Amino acid sequence: MTVRPIRQIGDPILRQRATEIDPADIGSAEAQQLIDDLIDSMRAANGAGLAANQIGVARRVVVMEVGDNPRYPYKPRIPLTVAINPVVEPVPGPDGAVETVDINEGCLSVPLRGMVTRHVDVRVRYLDRHGVTHDEVKRGLTAGTWQHECDHLDGVLIVDRADPSTLATWAEYEAHHRDEFVTRITQFVERVGS
Ligand code: ZN
Repeated sequence: MTVRPIRQIGDPILRQRATEIDPADIGSAEAQQLIDDLIDSMRAANGAGLAANQIGVARRVVVMEVGDNPRYPYKPRIPLTVAINPVVEPVPGPDGAVETVDINEGCLSVPLRGMVTRHVDVRVRYLDRHGVTHDEVKRGLTAGTWQHECDHLDGVLIVDRADPSTLATWAEYEAHHRDEFVTRITQFVERVGS
């Protein structure tokens, strides 16, 4: 088990565009070790997801997992997911409309939370750690997590997307914004199902 330090905003690697992994290299010891380190580091920090550049490797790999998460208790579960060379695109929802939702997000690389507008429905295409191709639709907060993690691979952080007036430290979020947000987002999760 290797928990690597998580790079913080200001570290130039968080602003780099990460490069694709050659599918022929997914089975290599180096790639598999990177994936294991990402999972260990995400779990040690109670993250919902982690991108490779957050542990100092500018390659296009993200991991996600949500169980009983103390950082994000309102998030629906996400089984452990490894996504290599992921591509995310918005799609219309079941009612045919392209919908967005404002989500108060945190990030292991940023000591703030802020309100970010995300697509409610996205199509995700990626390779898993066995090199198997996936093409799936994600919805709701789970779709938001995918958009957040894949933003990292393009060097984009929540402070770029958030309305600046909504930025808050975790302590101030909990004191002034958490209850209202959790009430709203819990109703949203119940409505869209994830
Ligand atoms: Zn993040």
